[in-house]
Amino acid sequence: MTNLVVEVAVSSTPVYAGNNDGTLSYRVAPELSGQVQMGSLVLVPLGKRRAVGVVVAIKERTDRTELKDVAAVLVKEFLPPEMIEIGRYVAGRYVCPLAVAVNALMPPAAGRRLERRWCWLPSGEEGVNGAISLVSCLPAPAGDVAEYLSRRGAAWESQLLQLGPRREVRAALEALKAHGLVRNEWSWRGMPKERRLPTDVEGAAQAAAAKPDGTGRHITLDAAQLRAATSINAALGRGGTFLLYGVTGSGKTEVYLSCAAEALARGYQVMFLVPEHSLIPQMVTRINQRLEAEVAVVHGELADGERAAVWERARIGKVRVIVGTRAALFTPMPRLGLIVVDEEHAGSYKQDTAPRYDAREVAIKRGQLQRAVVVLGSATPSTEIFYLAGQGKIHLLELPQRAGNAGLPRVEIVDLRAEFHDGHHGILSRRLVEEINGVLTAGRQAILFLNRRGYAPYVLCRQCGHVPLCRHCAVALTYHRDGTLRCHYCGYIERAEGKCPVCGGNLSRLGSGTQRVEEEVRALWPGARILRADRDTTAKKGQWEKIYRTFAGGEADILIGTQTITKGMDFPGVTLVGVVNADLSLYQPDFRARERTFQLLTQVAGRAGRRDAPGTVVIQTYNPQDPAIALAAFQDYQRFYAQEIAMRRRLGYPPFVKLVRLGFTGSDEAEVIAAAHEVAELISNAESNIQVLGPAPGYPSRLKDLYRWQLMLKVPGWSRYKNRLTPILAPYIGGRRTIRMIVDVGPINPW
Ligand code: ADP
Ligand code: ZN
Repeated sequence: MTNLVVEVAVSSTPVYAGNNDGTLSYRVAPELSGQVQMGSLVLVPLGKRRAVGVVVAIKERTDRTELKDVAAVLVKEFLPPEMIEIGRYVAGRYVCPLAVAVNALMPPAAGRRLERRWCWLPSGEEGVNGAISLVSCLPAPAGDVAEYLSRRGAAWESQLLQLGPRREVRAALEALKAHGLVRNEWSWRGMPKERRLPTDVEGAAQAAAAKPDGTGRHITLDAAQLRAATSINAALGRGGTFLLYGVTGSGKTEVYLSCAAEALARGYQVMFLVPEHSLIPQMVTRINQRLEAEVAVVHGELADGERAAVWERARIGKVRVIVGTRAALFTPMPRLGLIVVDEEHAGSYKQDTAPRYDAREVAIKRGQLQRAVVVLGSATPSTEIFYLAGQGKIHLLELPQRAGNAGLPRVEIVDLRAEFHDGHHGILSRRLVEEINGVLTAGRQAILFLNRRGYAPYVLCRQCGHVPLCRHCAVALTYHRDGTLRCHYCGYIERAEGKCPVCGGNLSRLGSGTQRVEEEVRALWPGARILRADRDTTAKKGQWEKIYRTFAGGEADILIGTQTITKGMDFPGVTLVGVVNADLSLYQPDFRARERTFQLLTQVAGRAGRRDAPGTVVIQTYNPQDPAIALAAFQDYQRFYAQEIAMRRRLGYPPFVKLVRLGFTGSDEAEVIAAAHEVAELISNAESNIQVLGPAPGYPSRLKDLYRWQLMLKVPGWSRYKNRLTPILAPYIGGRRTIRMIVDVGPINPW
């Protein structure tokens, strides 16, 4: 006799015991077999507990009695088949157990939302009357419970438990059940009744026509914008991937909005991805000004309940527009027609914890599965994506000019060597000070950018050379103005001592962070209204929004900040952007350091003078001749790309190879290194075409008391090699007892 057997990805902590997928097999009892399909949410026994999980495969097998039975089918149509497909893609491409990938697809806390639901059974007046008289012989709260249930028909157990002492209510419920008056079932709380997708897409479409800009302006796309929008619109319903390459302020967002309006009008759902949480409000505002549709946001800081509600409303097609960070990509949207990935080059599209997916790749895959159009937008596209566009694998759309005749800003590079030579030791060069004076006199606004928070990045005893380091990480502690030394990697804090703990000499605070810039600015312009935005001033909910609103509303003159302030922000009053130290990102130990520097400077420069007023950008550097800096000054992406791609070809970097990082961590450094060597040897022996670099220490080489070493693999083609490498790596993933190994396919950020 054959039985239905299902593979279930259980949604609690991933189970490695099952198989390499982390999934578990269960038998389906004949009476349930009609209710189970791919993607169903089921309740399964797991040890002594019960857990929820998603069906990821269905097989017919001859009877295997050792398998346990699925306890209940909670929701038959839960994850749509294409989302299971996405889970398989993520698991395969980024080498993680399927259960981990499927977990990323689930609404948060799916397990916790399970609850018993009680139903009242007797029907008709006679039945109810008979039941009530039966209840009068039962212990105390049974009467209340029965009345409550008979009135409503059904209720959640947590509601019923409020009718009296919990234990007594439970006893009453069991007694009612024993008399056949009620029954219960496990159910998924918060699941709306309507499970069918809205079929009336035409009706919904009518409301979605484009409306004029909420600011009163009516936008007419210019020729290049119109060309781009027309190409994208022509692909709606068929699918296709586009790169929308246009300088900052060229109207990329206007193109997205125009295509989104068209997609909505044709009954599709639309997804907007932005690199950072802080960019969501601005995008939502622009969407609301232009589109008539229910918009929902998805990001890591939403409460579980809110997120689950959005997830469900998108799944049934009620929410038609989603705006969010990379995790929003996993929101089920059955009528998905357009995915916009704004600022495509941003490193935050790569997730640094398992599943270590690249949201751009997954977006493209999802587009293929659902025939949705994918639009990647950037003023400084990542080298890999621009290369694909050059190869014709992605359609390239170009917006060569800033909209509305706004000119590109005037960029000046200040050579800090010359400043030093002339005996000027301030953080702000004379040129930058002069420009700020001009801005303040004209009543305009300035942004000062420095990608380092705190006061001084390190402290040094000039007498004996001692540098205070973190106790848990191999990094110098940063001095903060509140008199603390802080580790920016693990959060460790200690009081800053005035004297060197080793020799008693005086400690010098070296280098500059945003706090020091703020101090200097306040000293130079005591009357100016100054804001600072870095992780220390924006960590709490709402803080960044407040700074943003204050500055955008013209209630401050100078905004000093880190990365947060550089992306996609539109501050019309800003006519000056100062880059305090352009060299910071240039010296990261990573082949992408140049690309990142170029992107950063170009993006920062794009903040200056966006509409009527021409802008100025001052870049301070000790490396004025470096191409990443010089070409950013001219906003010359094409020249930069030409140099970059030549370098990558010469040295064998992506897109010419796939990089795979294997990171090893453990508390015994010798063991960590030995494990790295062992895996390096296994791979070298098995695959001579894969180049294995390392082991080399990570950066930092010790983090939170764990030593970190890495191997970098240069793989000639990932889709070809992943199936051969995965079996070699699988036994190490998730770790043996003392050493953990992580696999990062296509890593973007240094480790
Ligand atoms: P990007 O996304 O490329 O940085 P935006 O879409 O934000 O560019 O456009 C920059 C500014 O120019 C915005 O204020 C936008 O409303 C305006 N703009 C863009 N295109 C047009 C247009 N065709 N007509 C009028 N204003 C436009
Ligand atoms: Zn630390």
